[in-house]
Amino acid sequence: MRRCKKCGAPAVIYMRQHRLGLCKAHYLEWFVEQTERTIRRYRMFRRDEKLLVAVSGGKDSLAVWDVLWRLGYQADGLYIALGIDGGIGYSAESQRLAEKFAQERGLTLHIVDIPGEYGLGIPELARRSRRGKGKPCSVCGLVKRHEMNRMAHDMGYDVLVTGHNLDDEVAVLFGNVLQWQMGYIVRQGPVLPEEPGFARKAKPLVRFYERETAAYALLRGIEYIYDECPFAQGAKSIYYKELLNRLEEERPGAKLQFYVNFLKAKEEGWFRDPREAAGPVQVVLHRCESCGQPTTAPGKCAFCRLMDQVGAQAQASRT
Ligand code: SF4
Ligand code: ZN
Repeated sequence: MRRCKKCGAPAVIYMRQHRLGLCKAHYLEWFVEQTERTIRRYRMFRRDEKLLVAVSGGKDSLAVWDVLWRLGYQADGLYIALGIDGGIGYSAESQRLAEKFAQERGLTLHIVDIPGEYGLGIPELARRSRRGKGKPCSVCGLVKRHEMNRMAHDMGYDVLVTGHNLDDEVAVLFGNVLQWQMGYIVRQGPVLPEEPGFARKAKPLVRFYERETAAYALLRGIEYIYDECPFAQGAKSIYYKELLNRLEEERPGAKLQFYVNFLKAKEEGWFRDPREAAGPVQVVLHRCESCGQPTTAPGKCAFCRLMDQVGAQAQASRT
């Protein structure tokens, strides 16, 4: 039987990449300490800054919110109701769990109801749009990014926090490296600095494996939604995660090394935006003429164009 490295009691978890077994109490303590170290290591945010945590009702986002709350950060939550049912009442159940979590801890949870605000849920928006070839994830991502930025900006939050874990980040990095998508690779990291009109973005759980965030949520007694979004099935990122899990089986720590060494190489300047050679990159931002959010092209932002497109198609189908 494995034993806790700190107290010798039976271990509830063994992390092969760290050669570390811990009992329940010491695991919960370790997880919180490691998160704080990551926050400092990558200079994510300070205690006097206002944080908005994007909460989906899943283990990662509730775990990160729980840890930030325990560490004394000013962290409110944002739940975006997507209007996804999938035969399992996915959105309704995840909202219930996010609300329950906030209520138990006396935390503030903002809720944006997409069908309520825009008349249509994500599946219907996706069906009517030309984006994503019928798969709703592209539309969903666009809508979520827009709403998160809008809420952070309108309500004066300094930082948008998400619960991305190491497995998520490594799958994205792996996908980008497979195609050498340098534009994405140079921007990937645990913290994305603020830009005019956009809050800073931070991922404090980025050094934890998915099984570690799940263990934290379970051991902490956090009730979270086990089901994945019904549209997640068949996603490329899931395929990459499976491949990477096979690699990890053979070589414990491979995923962590892949990611951490990438960040190190980035810090050392191996992944620079080539445009920086001529001085700091000046991204020219425009104001969306419809919603006012910053956008890289003049005219309307991608979100407002989507809404126009969907409205136009809805009208066309009525005639
Ligand atoms: Fe949205 Fe796709 Fe994620 Fe479901 S799987 S929440 S549709 S991005
Ligand atoms: Zn807009």
